[in-house]
Amino acid sequence: MENPYRSIPSVDVCLSALEEEYPDLLKNVSRSRAREIITAFWDDVRRDIKDGRRRVATPLLQTCLPDIKNAIRMETRCGVRPVLNATGVVIHTNLGRSILPEKALQALTDTSSGYCSLELNRETGGRGSRHDIAENLLKDLCGAEAAVVVNNNAAAVLLVLNTLCEGGEVIVSRGELVEIGGSFRIPEIMERSGSILREVGTTNRTYLRDYEVAVTENTKALLRVHTSNYRIVGFHSAASLPQLAALGRQRGLLVIEDLGSGCLVDLTPYGLPPEPTVASVVSEGADMVMFSGDKALGGPQAGIVVGRKDLVDQLKLNPLMRALRCDKLCLTALEATLRQYCLPDVVSRIPTLRMITASPRELAAKAKRLATRLRKLLGERCAVSLRQGSSRVGGGAFPECDLPTTLICITPAYISANELKSRLLACTPPLLGRMEDNAFCLDTRTLRSRDCLLAERLLVEALSDPAGE
Ligand SMILES: *Cc1c(COP(=O)(O)O)cnc(C)c1O
Repeated sequence: MENPYRSIPSVDVCLSALEEEYPDLLKNVSRSRAREIITAFWDDVRRDIKDGRRRVATPLLQTCLPDIKNAIRMETRCGVRPVLNATGVVIHTNLGRSILPEKALQALTDTSSGYCSLELNRETGGRGSRHDIAENLLKDLCGAEAAVVVNNNAAAVLLVLNTLCEGGEVIVSRGELVEIGGSFRIPEIMERSGSILREVGTTNRTYLRDYEVAVTENTKALLRVHTSNYRIVGFHSAASLPQLAALGRQRGLLVIEDLGSGCLVDLTPYGLPPEPTVASVVSEGADMVMFSGDKALGGPQAGIVVGRKDLVDQLKLNPLMRALRCDKLCLTALEATLRQYCLPDVVSRIPTLRMITASPRELAAKAKRLATRLRKLLGERCAVSLRQGSSRVGGGAFPECDLPTTLICITPAYISANELKSRLLACTPPLLGRMEDNAFCLDTRTLRSRDCLLAERLLVEALSDPAGE
């Protein structure tokens, strides 16, 4: 039998064949990267031959050329591109968390297409401080003495613990030693900050007296962490913030709260369960409160610290501040987003809040409209039905809270629902939904009106090819 590896072509032969077959393919990728992709492709083929997973078809190059083309095409799709989110998860970390308000987009164009006053003192023309940009707005909105913004909430937690607690003990309830995802774990971040974790209580129950007996002269702070993406239900208790604040005052300890998502407004009037707002946590006596800019706040990625002025001043002087600070894009978008909170009816101005608070009736009407259009466009290629379902806030805000919604369920006639899902993922832009009971489902909560039109087109495209060629 002939040596099967001998039919594997050289990279140069492969490149010329690609150029001939797909004249535009190599324009958007560097030569060296194309060579790497081709080499990796043939390495896989060699492995498959060796393991008996592939029989060599002839002519090998011609057979494999479309796969190599796809591998190179994938490369040019790897960057950050728009995606249609029909998953119903509003704050979806994989999909970039919050959509920015219109005003923030305008501000971004204005300040980043030319020079801007990032660190300009407008009285002297000399150097100013970027820390001033959002501070007054945050002070007003949170009822705090001072505020500072860093790269993300993980950075905020690190900076606060390092600045205020390095070398000292920090007491945390065992029920709050959480992992948030993307490898943010409270014990590990504490270790990096140089503070010493002192765990108290149990997973489900921790009392004020557990904190009291754990205080030593080396204790610097009591830390509370929002459990974000999970909830302890049933036999459960935790010390309240006012209790801890009183203990902190009595024993001269800082009370620090990692609030995670950080709502600025109360959403209970819209039927959501109560979540502490940043202002309520400040008023209940936390000395420092940290939260994200791109979760329930609905702005850009940022970590916000609000609280006592003497402590915030110390944060600003920490050399780590320089490593964790935000750029002009973040500060511009954050300032513009916060300004929306000073206007009436903020919920309608911030896309994240609008999506979270969308009413079941509004969503049912939106789903019905889209379903009717899809039935007309897709005919017998699939069955389209509506059903009650639930969406999620995501991002660790409102854990385990189901938001009622109407789902559009699509059952293709000629391909499987899973095949439809992967075809939509390969579209430009990709359309993400979710699978329920073997149907591909769209939740319109997270689709804007213009996304609905685009989603129609993508579904037509994905279902127009019955054989899957
Ligand atoms: C999300 C979250 C973080 C991390 O915030 P990022 O802005 O993603 O860095 C930290 N703590 C809690 C409790 C969170 O929910």
